[in-house]
Amino acid sequence: MTAINSTGGKCPSCGADVLKEYSVLKEYSSPIRTCKKCGQQYHDKRFKELAISGIPEKNLSYKQSLIMAALGVICVLVFGIPTYFSITRSGYYYTGVVAMLITGFIMLIMSIIDAVTIKTGIKKKGYEKKLALSEERLSNRAYAQQLADLGYNVPDKYL
Ligand SMILES: [Zn+2]
Repeated sequence: MTAINSTGGKCPSCGADVLKEYSVLKEYSSPIRTCKKCGQQYHDKRFKELAISGIPEKNLSYKQSLIMAALGVICVLVFGIPTYFSITRSGYYYTGVVAMLITGFIMLIMSIIDAVTIKTGIKKKGYEKKLALSEERLSNRAYAQQLADLGYNVPDKYL
């Protein structure tokens, strides 16, 4: 099976652009994809079979959200303080600086949401759901073998 990194993101069978099929939300699903245009299969390494790759524990720790929150606060301060003074003193602001201020603010909000989903266990449950689906796919021996042939480190119990 041909991997799309060797075809520049095109379906190896019909040449359709399949690069945009990937999204972070779909990251944990089968790396063996079916082309929507021609129905042929191809290999896209950006997708991960969770039962093989394992739940990324780093995404379940607060460390990343803390780093992101800190960056958000720094952005808000670094870009917010000059914006505040330029508006109050001279009545104008720089759109570029305000854009950075908003980016920092969004980062801060996102990191808080991330921390809440970790704390409440919502994030972990989401991974567990995807893991169950992954195990179900791998319970098909032919599929597990196909992944092993592609070089994946498939656990013995599936083969
Ligand atoms: Zn195709």
